[in-house]
Amino acid sequence: MGKTNKAWHAQHRMPEHATAEQRLAWHRAHAAACGCRPPPPDIARQIEACAHSGPAPDPESGR
Ligand SMILES: [Zn+2]
Repeated sequence: MGKTNKAWHAQHRMPEHATAEQRLAWHRAHAAACGCRPPPPDIARQIEACAHSGPAPDPESGR
């Protein structure tokens, strides 16, 4: 762990005025592609929340 994926960073620059959504997307991709640093706690919580809820359940296919 702790290895920087320089190629990924070169291709994925964080926008200077990134929205919360952009930051979340960036950190999700970053966590999967690179291990240079963990996401900040607030981002990590959102990533986890998304992972737990997963794709929205289809209300018509189950009950
Ligand atoms: Zn990195």
